Amino acid sequence: MSSDDIIHMLGMAKSFGAVEVLTGIDMKVRRGEAAFIIGPSGSGKSTLLRCVNGLETYSGGELWVEDYLVGAENSNGKWYEARSKVTAARRAGIGMVFQRFNLFPNMTALENVTAGLRLVLGQPRRQADARGRELLDRVGLLHRADAYPAQLSGGQQQRIAIARAIAAKPSIILFDEPTSALDPELVGEVLEVMRDLARDGMTMLVVTHEIAFAEEVGDTVHFIDRGRVAESGKPADVIRHSSNPRTAEFLARIRQ
Ligand code: ADP
Ligand code: MG
Repeated sequence: MSSDDIIHMLGMAKSFGAVEVLTGIDMKVRRGEAAFIIGPSGSGKSTLLRCVNGLETYSGGELWVEDYLVGAENSNGKWYEARSKVTAARRAGIGMVFQRFNLFPNMTALENVTAGLRLVLGQPRRQADARGRELLDRVGLLHRADAYPAQLSGGQQQRIAIARAIAAKPSIILFDEPTSALDPELVGEVLEVMRDLARDGMTMLVVTHEIAFAEEVGDTVHFIDRGRVAESGKPADVIRHSSNPRTAEFLARIRQ
């Protein structure tokens, strides 16, 4: 794999029982790239993201992240199934932002952002809190450090989830429809934080239905359809000038 590639999928497949959900995904994400995945509901987008950070195992082909084969360990030239502690350590190098924020309801904003630093990386509270405040400031929420999730809007909760996802300086962040659960007036503040990360050179793999945002911020757009990458390219080429009828049909449907 080229050192410019952080993610490389070669014919990656995933089945749930007899149902093949991903049928041979070929995709590369370069370091520093904002890559977007669009496609119909049920086409396998969430499953693809979950395979990258080892929340889901894949069942065929290859999936490389950085310099490792996801789910596998090499010892003396032989491949073995990765031990769970290896998968957990690798996952710590990947940030993930979910549709429904998934903040801990009994922790403050600051505690949510620092939980991984304190509990997984074992940082002393003072060090973790300093980093946590820096991150809250970055997403514009330093003044809500002591608020609990229930006291915050959905947009604020998602900005805290993003701060949490970048706390341990991951090499890539995965976003799974980060604005889909938000009221329309709160979408913009979350996209603004994502735009800022992309501008800063963060490697991002984003599943979204925000097509205009994908076109504006994306370096690459992948259209996934029925478990395959039907089309990849520069955003304008895929979104405006696609010759693939399935892409055009999908875009027309979500613009209605
Ligand atoms: P998308 O995110 O594109 O909407 P998903 O990756 O969530 O699609 O799901 C793709 C397909 O895989 C769907 O048909 C879904 O029902 C199925 N699926 C997802 N997770 C599971 C699971 N844990 N067990 C069985 N089927 C699943
Ligand atoms: Mg999904």
